[in-house]
Amino acid sequence: MTEDDKGFEIVFSPKVIEIFERYIREYQYRVEAGGILVGKAEGRKITIIDMTEPYEEDRRGRFTFKRSSKGHQEYMDELWSSYDETLTYLGEWHTHDQKKIFPSPVDYNNWKQIMSRSHNSEILVFIILGRKNLSIWIGEEKRIVSVGEVDV
Ligand SMILES: [Zn+2]
Repeated sequence: MTEDDKGFEIVFSPKVIEIFERYIREYQYRVEAGGILVGKAEGRKITIIDMTEPYEEDRRGRFTFKRSSKGHQEYMDELWSSYDETLTYLGEWHTHDQKKIFPSPVDYNNWKQIMSRSHNSEILVFIILGRKNLSIWIGEEKRIVSVGEVDV
């Protein structure tokens, strides 16, 4: 959980924390991993309740993660109905083999594209999980702002 000076409060469910912890603990970082973030955005409070992990159809490289829509979308649809349609797509996460996390120009471009076509939530969350911690960015209107790092 983190709170920054722009007033965003980001809360992770135990399940999400567990998954991020597992990646830090067990993941080899030879190829990148990623998926979607699902939860609720109520004003500036964002609760990340669930997330997807890589599917076979994703393209995973040493420095790339290109998510296919297939498995991730199906999982989202399932969640949507099992939570009485209260959850929304909140954004994306992926891994970097870095101790200090820097998004690549490709990351920023992807995030901007997602922001331009998203109709789900006014606020989107982008997470990069490094070898030791995770960094969070918020996309709001047309801006992407860093809201800090969290130790996992
Ligand atoms: Zn990246």
